[in-house]
Amino acid sequence: MPTRRTTVRRAPHRGVYDREVVHAILDAGRVAHVGFVHEGQPFVIPMAYARDGDRLLLHGSGGSRMMRALAGGAPACVTVTIVDGLVLARSVFHHSMNYRSVVAVGTATKLAGKEKATALETLVDALVPGRSDEARGPDRAELASTMILAFPLEEVSAKVRSGPPVDDPEDVSLPIWAGTVPLALEYGHPEAAPDVAEGVPVPPSVSGLIRRSPAP
Ligand SMILES: Cc1cc2nc3c(=O)[nH]c(=O)nc-3n(C[C@H](O)[C@H](O)[C@H](O)COP(=O)(O)OP(=O)(O)OC[C@H]3O[C@@H](n4cnc5c(N)ncnc54)[C@H](O)[C@@H]3O)c2cc1C
Repeated sequence: MPTRRTTVRRAPHRGVYDREVVHAILDAGRVAHVGFVHEGQPFVIPMAYARDGDRLLLHGSGGSRMMRALAGGAPACVTVTIVDGLVLARSVFHHSMNYRSVVAVGTATKLAGKEKATALETLVDALVPGRSDEARGPDRAELASTMILAFPLEEVSAKVRSGPPVDDPEDVSLPIWAGTVPLALEYGHPEAAPDVAEGVPVPPSVSGLIRRSPAP
């Protein structure tokens, strides 16, 4: 259910509050923008993330200002946006974008112990499924220097626009092209690091990414 803070006001018919829709957008997205206020100054910081059930996982250095602020209980707002295309109407006024986006507000919780280690694997596998089985796991020092936060998906909304432009009826007869231009995020061909030993093959997790391209 939308709350006072998560009710879509402009174009409210595009507001979606279904958990399944919210989750699908978060699973397809790649970057979260995390907003918080530090010493009276708002900041919005881009972050990788993973959805883990009804929460988002964020990771960063234990020394990061943002991570420390969030772990200390700073109220935050997390936004994920996917642009699906440009929408070109006959009139400049009705130009738009097709998109899927999610906004969640709440307070993060710092994870520890086994839950923290599992969350780190979830984060890696959310970006590249299967990668946590292939890469060397974190040692004690690496784990200690990394902070993992869980952000609740309780107060959350989605907004979705799809389909062609919507022109005013009197503009439809104008001899001006109108329509949509799809836009998608796509994996390119993997490029091995220059110091990868000869004969090390591209692993299944990476081949799997190429097969899935464009990213869902
Ligand atoms: C796609 C993407 C994914 C990322 N994923 C992660 C992640 O999962 N975990 C993580 O810890 N970091 C991630 N980063 C880096 C993250 O955006 C911050 O740069 C990082 O967390 C450093 O935090 P800090 O506490 O040092 O920065 P702060 O001390 O908070 O930053 C100080 C100032 O540096 C500038 N600044 C900081 N970051 C950026 C930025 N990204 N772009 C432009 N200016 C900036 C701003 O002016 C900011 O006020 C990601 C960045 C991108 C673009």
